[in-house]
Amino acid sequence: MSESLFPTRWANDKPPSLEKFTSDFADDYACAEYLAKKRWKSGFRCPRCGGNRAWRLEARPWVWECQGVLVDDNGARTTTGCRHQTSLIAGTVMHGTHLPLRIWFLAA
Ligand SMILES: [Zn+2]
Repeated sequence: MSESLFPTRWANDKPPSLEKFTSDFADDYACAEYLAKKRWKSGFRCPRCGGNRAWRLEARPWVWECQGVLVDDNGARTTTGCRHQTSLIAGTVMHGTHLPLRIWFLAA
């Protein structure tokens, strides 16, 4: 069992480029990771279907898209077909801005 609790779309691939990744993304990614762990202490849980598998959008790491799959403790999979997207910053002061997440963390 090496599956990450918080997988990403590029888990098995290289990020677009190391330079881009470190310059515009690493901090937002880290902030989003923090928000995700705060919200889902034991892993992603879809608010619509209860699924516990999701992708994080590459361009917006604070948005999680449900994979429509619920895997129970015995490893049995239930497919829900859900593609609900959950924004970790919806309803917060960060929502609707174009500022990088890290600006808000610095200001907090
Ligand atoms: Zn779902």
